[in-house]
Amino acid sequence: MNANNKYIVNQAPPSGGWGVGSLLRPNIANLTPYSSARDEFSGSASVFLDANENPYETGYNRYPDPYQMEVKKRIAEIKGVQTEQIFLGNGSDEPIDLLFRAFCNPGVDNVVAIEPSYGMYTVSAGINDVEVKKVLLTENFELESEKLLAVTNDKTKLVFLCSPNNPSGNLLNSDEIINIVKNFRGIVIVDEAYIDFAPGKTLLSEINNYPNLVILQTFSKAWGLAGIRLGMAFTSPEIIGILNKIKYPYNINSLTQQKVIETLNNTEQKENWVKTIINERERLAKELKQFNFVKKIYPSDANFLLVKMDRAREIFEYLMKKGVIVRDRSKVALCEGSLRITVGSPKENDKLIQHLMLQQ
Ligand SMILES: *Cc1c(COP(=O)(O)O)cnc(C)c1O
Repeated sequence: MNANNKYIVNQAPPSGGWGVGSLLRPNIANLTPYSSARDEFSGSASVFLDANENPYETGYNRYPDPYQMEVKKRIAEIKGVQTEQIFLGNGSDEPIDLLFRAFCNPGVDNVVAIEPSYGMYTVSAGINDVEVKKVLLTENFELESEKLLAVTNDKTKLVFLCSPNNPSGNLLNSDEIINIVKNFRGIVIVDEAYIDFAPGKTLLSEINNYPNLVILQTFSKAWGLAGIRLGMAFTSPEIIGILNKIKYPYNINSLTQQKVIETLNNTEQKENWVKTIINERERLAKELKQFNFVKKIYPSDANFLLVKMDRAREIFEYLMKKGVIVRDRSKVALCEGSLRITVGSPKENDKLIQHLMLQQ
């Protein structure tokens, strides 16, 4: 049996009578995927002479599980979803790119993204020769769903939302998000990379209601595993099947799979980090407020603060000279004069504050 088929189930089309499958690029719909040795075999065996591997044990002489079932089982338990609703990628970057490759005809289709937001959506669009229509958030970085829907047209295949949003740090209003998911005839991606810092606010369970909703989460932030490159996409089994069909066969290596299983067996560590980081975020906000050059600290549901200040560029360069690197977002729409500061450890945050005191 080809393991891909396990994931491709018949999904009832959303109300309105259109289906996710009808959005696919014709070349992807017609694609016969690569069938690896491990795809064609399922069951148990003791002699593997099917994949031209080296038989001598190094710990890594065998190809990894192409569908990462052990990892997905753990994630499914923790997140309260089915394994068939999970895709794992080489960072969130991979599902972002695969969604373009599956659904957007280069030079023809377009996507809609909020502004300001994460730069990777635009980069991936550029690589795939897809136009990005940007919809400005309000001055307080709020999403206006009707304004966004008005920008979509019959060539719009994907909508990118990010909540909590980077670089503004705020959660987007969930009613506004759902209004888009309900009324847009395409795929809505909600990037929840920072959701662990906004307890209880995930839209994950909505994937059971809307087959065109994709939720992205990652091991790069709260879980402390940016170096292993592991991103999660949660969506309908139909979209999972499409992503599985076009991914590199062994996209998640054995080291990454092992490390994440180890980490998922100690979720307490992550919860403690999140608590500390949220406390530090609030402390940092309070301390920064006292500097006379700080004009505004935007409310944050993430592990960073967007801070509007006088002389932003000068302060950015001053901190750099002191060996403290923050992100200058001054040239980003609605972020004029603003630096994005990641919440560090208590000691790191103290250092930042001490340097800034000398700028008074
Ligand atoms: C950091 C971040 C990610 C994480 O990307 P990975 O490829 O999983 O490391 C995703 N989305 C946003 C908005 C981010 O800021």
